[in-house]
Amino acid sequence: MTVVCARCQGEVPDEDVYYYQDQQVCEDCYMEVLQRPKTCDVAATQMAKKHRRAAGQTGTEGLLDIQKKIYNYIKENEKVTRQQVMEALDLSELELDKQIAVLRHCELIKGRKEGNQVYLVPFDY
Ligand SMILES: [Zn+2]
Repeated sequence: MTVVCARCQGEVPDEDVYYYQDQQVCEDCYMEVLQRPKTCDVAATQMAKKHRRAAGQTGTEGLLDIQKKIYNYIKENEKVTRQQVMEALDLSELELDKQIAVLRHCELIKGRKEGNQVYLVPFDY
């Protein structure tokens, strides 16, 4: 199953769809819309990747505290909705999505679609 990205019109596999406002977009467009106003997030992502590479692709070194919190929450609960994470960690949707994008890029978590619901699960789930 694929959906069409609302921004670039490219086809996106179901499990790689991101939600930006009310639109379904691909990962590239998603990173683009989120990062455009804040270039420091790009640096944060690259930093996280670099740290992880140095650490042999394990651990959460290089992540921001909030990213670690989200990651740990998902790890402990194994399968959560974005809503659950927002409520548990008191985050806005925009803030959560921004951090999730980083965690997905670092291959710490991934999206998993079951029925109509998209869950966040550990990457090796
Ligand atoms: Zn796109």
